[in-house]
Amino acid sequence: MQSLRKLKPGHGLDLQDIAPPPAPAAGEVLLKVKSAGVCGTDLHIDEWTASYHFLAPALPVTVGHEFSGVIELLGSGVSGLAAGQLVAVRPSVVCGRCAACLAGQPDACTSRRGIGVMRDGGFAPYALVPARNCVVIPAGIDAEVAAMAEPLTVSHEAVRTGGVKPGDRVLVLGPGNIGQGIAIFARAAGARQVVVAGHGDAARFEVLRKMGFDDLIDFAATGMDAGLAPWLKDSKFDVVIEATGAGAVIKPAMAALKIHGVLVITGIHAAPVPIDLTALVRQHQQLRGSYRAPESAWPEVVDFMRGHQETLRHMITHRVPLSAAYEGFALARSKVATKVMVQPELEAAP
Ligand SMILES: [Zn+2]
Ligand SMILES: [Zn+2]
Repeated sequence: MQSLRKLKPGHGLDLQDIAPPPAPAAGEVLLKVKSAGVCGTDLHIDEWTASYHFLAPALPVTVGHEFSGVIELLGSGVSGLAAGQLVAVRPSVVCGRCAACLAGQPDACTSRRGIGVMRDGGFAPYALVPARNCVVIPAGIDAEVAAMAEPLTVSHEAVRTGGVKPGDRVLVLGPGNIGQGIAIFARAAGARQVVVAGHGDAARFEVLRKMGFDDLIDFAATGMDAGLAPWLKDSKFDVVIEATGAGAVIKPAMAALKIHGVLVITGIHAAPVPIDLTALVRQHQQLRGSYRAPESAWPEVVDFMRGHQETLRHMITHRVPLSAAYEGFALARSKVATKVMVQPELEAAP
């Protein structure tokens, strides 16, 4: 079967023909992959960014960690799942042996291995995954929307971390897939106003407008301080959530925050960022990091998908077959795409 793989350390990925996975072992299931999203992590693995060199011992590996599939075969001892069910894959595989796992706190596992990062993932027609990592998708939710479960849990966790409450004004920095999800969950949490800001992001703003967000700022023309000024005239923001990974936004982000405001960081920053801690102290502000969501967030997010499928679908801007997965990466790297889905069952264009 054709699979998009990282074969060796260094730049690039290869579309390789490999044997289909063997029958599932105990506790595993074999999935027929329906839809797999291209994420920033995949771009980093492709480019072999320094922060991803940790996966060298796992190579070669099939990438793709945001995917849904239909269960084809169940290994022995699997309960609660059945052939034919649509599932989303929770990519974080916990070890089951560390102190946290043994204490029943898998969210704190110290030696997790990501599906599509440290073991074979979803840019392939079939994937073998632990049954424990399958989240059943109820009837009525499409496979491609289900494939966004993982990034949506990241956005959900960012809003939870920010403590967004009814009546809050929320500023989201970064209008990509994670920022768009943050906007949706902030609105669902009762925010009075959700403002989303970007930099030369017309295509992603178009997606946000379709999702019902009209308070959008493009800093490309004005710079950040001037772009934000009209939005700060009456009051500053209760919560600012950063989803850019750009260190330059942190200072203006803090300046846009109310006294007692909360700044949430979700971006992976390539370098340390200087912060004016005295300003933070005097304004009684809080700085919080947000990353992978706890397992308990998944059922909540899947339930949310059921009621908001059509809104969420706007985030999927491109669909490509496996043979064009790498072209999909180029789209994801451009600011044209929000979420590119690789769909193995799509026919390649003639
Ligand atoms: Zn991802
Ligand atoms: Zn563990």
